[in-house]
Amino acid sequence: MQIKERIERLREELREHNHKYYVLDSPTISDYDFDMLLKELQALEKQHPEYDDPSSPTLRVGGGVTKNFETVVHEHRMYSLENSYSKDDLLDWEKRIQRILGDVPLQYTCELKYDGASISLTYEEGKLVRAVTRGDGVQGDDVTTNIKTIKSVPLQLKGNYPEKFHIRGEIILTLDGFAKMNQERIANGEEPYMNPRNTASGSLKLQDSGQVAQRPLECLLYGIIGKDLNIADQFEMLEKAREWGFKVPTVARLCQSMTDVLEFIEIWDVKRHELPYETDGVVIKVNKLRNQEELGFTAKSPRWAMAYKFKSEQVSTVLNEITYQVGRTGAITPVANLEPVLLAGTVVKRASLHNADQIERLDIREGDTVFVEKGGEIIPKIIAVDLTKRPANSVPTTYIQVCPECGTALIRNEGEAQHFCPNDTGCPTQITGRIQHFISRKAMDIEGLGAETVELLFKEGLISNYADLYTLTKEQLLPLERMAEKSAENLVDGVQASLQIPFERVLFALGIRYVGETVAKKLAKAYKNIDALKVATIEDLIAVDEIGERIAESVVQFFNNETNLGIVERLKSYGVQFSLSEEQLENQSDKFKGKTFVVSGVFETLGRTELKKLIEDNGGKVASSISSRTTYVVAGDNMGPSKKTKAENLGIPIITEQDFLTMLNS
Ligand code: AMP
Ligand code: ZN
Repeated sequence: MQIKERIERLREELREHNHKYYVLDSPTISDYDFDMLLKELQALEKQHPEYDDPSSPTLRVGGGVTKNFETVVHEHRMYSLENSYSKDDLLDWEKRIQRILGDVPLQYTCELKYDGASISLTYEEGKLVRAVTRGDGVQGDDVTTNIKTIKSVPLQLKGNYPEKFHIRGEIILTLDGFAKMNQERIANGEEPYMNPRNTASGSLKLQDSGQVAQRPLECLLYGIIGKDLNIADQFEMLEKAREWGFKVPTVARLCQSMTDVLEFIEIWDVKRHELPYETDGVVIKVNKLRNQEELGFTAKSPRWAMAYKFKSEQVSTVLNEITYQVGRTGAITPVANLEPVLLAGTVVKRASLHNADQIERLDIREGDTVFVEKGGEIIPKIIAVDLTKRPANSVPTTYIQVCPECGTALIRNEGEAQHFCPNDTGCPTQITGRIQHFISRKAMDIEGLGAETVELLFKEGLISNYADLYTLTKEQLLPLERMAEKSAENLVDGVQASLQIPFERVLFALGIRYVGETVAKKLAKAYKNIDALKVATIEDLIAVDEIGERIAESVVQFFNNETNLGIVERLKSYGVQFSLSEEQLENQSDKFKGKTFVVSGVFETLGRTELKKLIEDNGGKVASSISSRTTYVVAGDNMGPSKKTKAENLGIPIITEQDFLTMLNS
């Protein structure tokens, strides 16, 4: 088969699979097979840049960086919606409509109101050409590069679509996806995000689209604007959008009267709690586009649509006790233990109180009657105290001074909201938490060992740090509860197998605060082995790209601790990987040490990512903008004229890809 045909075939197949997986939720091939097809396409595209396509499924992985988001004026203004809160509001609205339209029979389309960040997508000849945020409604930011990484946004449409149109929707994070992101952040010792909506909208403005690609964002669509669309009503519009490949939730309903609308609202006010994403209401739209046109817009919103806002569910209950949890990194979280109460379909017994400030701000006390709400967050929160019910003998809450697990005096760093237990090597919860992190999938991935077993092993005195895992024997394990011959064997084998885990993951597994997966990779690459990293100073560390002071301090602190050093030495003696492998090292040198490169334009033989990797592997730094600190600008085709002038003005040598390769191989 011709290369070009193969490329096109692969793109077609991948598009189809993307659609099945991300839009229809019904994949027909395995993730592995999908990855294989994607890899094949990536390789072919690299060898044959002449067949480049800005809609290729390979763009889904991201990589493009946007420094400044360009402001774009919307071709059609993006309006707000008027809000309503009751049946009477809706009946009034219907009357107003009928005053304008006369007494015509009215149908409505009811949709859920998705709670995320509004987006307007422009398609020309079936391809996504632009994605712009709502901004102030008149103009927004061009976030096309980032939007292209969202898998449910089609880059190439299917079926019989109009030549040009805009389609509007909402970028959201599913509740599951949001929870997973937060688990990872907590595992990395970072503060969790507050709610899915703000996180979704923040994601659109990340500069590195590669990071956007990793977030479980989705795009739910609800409206099309354009000429000669050949569509008569709102409900049909949704169906058409689905046909062309967009993700349009099927909960939308065509209603024959306001009575139907009210029923839809009643049903979803309850059922919304089962949805995989958040909704804060229902949007009701006059169905016929002909009628919509006649109704038109007010200064702020369409007259033909109305948002009905669900009441955020609130209940009041008694706060029995405030307890305190200790995390793996020693962070203390106060928890409100409530008199169990039914809220939004679930029984709520606990609510997070976040930190000492929060308790003080709301003056929350044990014995108080409090108002609890299920908002954006998965864990319900306390929004206020019912002071009329405060008992006479009530006393203000004094925040704990010592760790509830180990009794050590807590500390609170300048500028941080959270209290910490500093006893990281002696505090039982921190110890088991660290071991649990060590064995987790993205770290040492030890099979046959789970969180509960870790606790059991610790309680039985068999382990007190993660190095102890490597001395466990089958004989020690067998007497334990629920430990059969086979599971003991699996555990020991799993521990042994982890000796193969590469250095960067070992580094992540150590659980150094703020050293997440990405930082661990950066450090492994920069220092190549633990002995070099161990003696790095704060200044050394900060010099590494993307390592800030906070991380640097945390790393130095970790290796200044005798206990940690001892554990690392033991791990080393058992054969845990503490340096990059031969293979990883082979392609690395210090050739470009101290040199900073800016890469600009399109390249012939190397991809941009590959070029950057070569620079970094050989000790160089890649910067995104030209400054007096730049050593070389590597320029490909289409280098931006402003970059060129800047480099020339600063007297920075501009070299070609060939020059670069010659330098590398000299
Ligand atoms: P507001 O920002 O409260 O004025 O509400 C208007 C926003 O609701 C619009 O910008 C839309 O992005 C968003 N929205 C969410 N779901 C829908 C929907 N089904 N139909 C129309 N707008 C929606
Ligand atoms: Zn403690």
